[in-house]
Amino acid sequence: MVKAEGVHKSYGAAHILRGIDLEVQNGEVFCLVGPSGSGKSTFLRCINHLERIDGGRLSVDGELVGYKQKGDKLYELKDSEVAVQRRDIGMVFQRFNLFPHMTALANVMEAPIQVKGESKAVARERAERLLDRVGLRDKMGNYPSQLSGGQQQRVAIARALAMEPKLMLFDEPTSALDPELVGDVLDVMRDLAESGMTMIVVTHEMGFAREVGDSLVFMDGGVVVEAGNPRDVLTNPQQDRTKAFLSKVL
Ligand code: ATP
Ligand code: MG
Repeated sequence: MVKAEGVHKSYGAAHILRGIDLEVQNGEVFCLVGPSGSGKSTFLRCINHLERIDGGRLSVDGELVGYKQKGDKLYELKDSEVAVQRRDIGMVFQRFNLFPHMTALANVMEAPIQVKGESKAVARERAERLLDRVGLRDKMGNYPSQLSGGQQQRVAIARALAMEPKLMLFDEPTSALDPELVGDVLDVMRDLAESGMTMIVVTHEMGFAREVGDSLVFMDGGVVVEAGNPRDVLTNPQQDRTKAFLSKVL
C-alpha cells in the first residue's frame, strides 16, 4: 500500500529524512516508533504530500505521491490532482482539530458533503453509523467543547473514516490524552485494524504495537534503524540505538 525508497526530506539546511526505505502491505498495522525529532511526523506528512520529498520515491497504492511519471520523467501533479490523492488517506493527529462550531455529527458529515459533493442524507446516515461504531451514539449532538479529549479523538477518527480512506495515518493519537481516556481510543483503533484497514501508527503505546501491530519500524536520525515483527523488535532488539530507546519507554 505504501512504498518508500530512499526518501529524503530537508527543511532548509536541516536534513531530516535521510533515505527512508520501507513497505507497508495492504491491511497491515504498521507501527512507527522513535525518539523525538527523528522524523516520524515528517514522514507521515510526506505520505499525504503535506510535505514534498527532496529525493527518492514514495508511492501509495501504486501511485507516486504528488507526481506522475511519463517515460523516465517525473511531472508534479496539480493541486487538484494532489487533492484527489489525499481523499484516500485519512489522518488523525495528536491534537484533535475538530471544527469547534460544529456538533460531532456535523464534523463527521462535513468532508463528504464539501469534498465529494455527497447528499446530506447519505452523509448523515454514514456519520451516524461511524459515531455509533466509535461508541458515541449518544454524543452526536455535542459540540467539541462538550466532549472529553478521548471522545473528541474518536470523533476525529470517525471524521477521517467518513471519506472512506484506503489508508489511515495516526500521529501519536493518544499522547495528548489523560491516561484513563487512552484505552477507549486504542480500542477503536484495534477495531479498525480488525476490519482490515491499512494503518500507519506513530505511537509510544508499546502494548498496542505488540498486540495489534503487524510490523514495527524503529526510526532514529531520519533513517530506519530496525524493522520487523513488533514482538521480535520489542523483546529482542538487535541495534544499540533501539535498545537504548526501548529501555526508556518500556
Ligand atoms: P516527535 O516525537 O517529537 O513528534 P518526530 O519524530 O515526529 O518527533 P518531526 O516532527 O518529524 O519529528 O521533526 C523532525 C525534525 O524536523 C525536528 O528536528 C524538527 O524540528 C524539524 N522540523 C519539523 N517540521 C519542520 C518545519 N516545518 N520546518 C523546519 N523544521 C522542521
Ligand atoms: Mg511527531
